[in-house]
Amino acid sequence: MWTDAGWNWDWVWTLLSGDIKEESENIHILGFSDLHDDEVSWSWVWRIKCHEKIKFLIWLVLHNAIPTNDFRFRRGMASSPNCARCGAGSESVLHCLRDYSPSTELWLRFGFGNQDLMCMDVWSWIRNMVDSDRCHKFLAILWWVWRWRNMEVLGTERWGLDQVSYFIQSTLDDLVQYYAPRIATHSGRLIAGGQQLVKFDCAPDPLVPLLNDDALGRVYLRP
Ligand SMILES: [Zn+2]
Repeated sequence: MWTDAGWNWDWVWTLLSGDIKEESENIHILGFSDLHDDEVSWSWVWRIKCHEKIKFLIWLVLHNAIPTNDFRFRRGMASSPNCARCGAGSESVLHCLRDYSPSTELWLRFGFGNQDLMCMDVWSWIRNMVDSDRCHKFLAILWWVWRWRNMEVLGTERWGLDQVSYFIQSTLDDLVQYYAPRIATHSGRLIAGGQQLVKFDCAPDPLVPLLNDDALGRVYLRP
């Protein structure tokens, strides 16, 4: 990790096992658009409408391959699996990204409820959230709780909840602006969907749901 808490991807790549690397390379060689869930069960990750860096984080999380202390301990790279921040017995993926108390506080601050934070299966938790209408908010928080963890454990700065919340909101705004489905307004102008940017110039015509984007909600066209 670099001093700004960004990732050294070349180093992360060296941590992956050979079969994971091969699997990843095959996905890229074959092309994502040719793959279906029943052929590669996690190919949906690469179709999420978000930055590549966030997709890659999710891909690593789903392979239990982000370098938490638990991960590093199991590979002989750390003397203890304990969480360096709170002393919990194991810094697992879920502890790191969700159950560490300040991380939980962030999830709650952005409107996620306790019922959204109870799933103990990483795959199900992430898949359900990505498929929900809160996908972008989920991705923004996930990205920054990981960056926050790295900064606290390895970095040189101390970020408070408010600062991390600002980063999350900024990333969320970007995601909505660049990746949300477009919605036609009364004037026919296409604007980004999502709660942050949906502003109608005036009362819209009845809109016809055209299709359902599995991760990001409906896309509408005027009748
Ligand atoms: Zn902890």
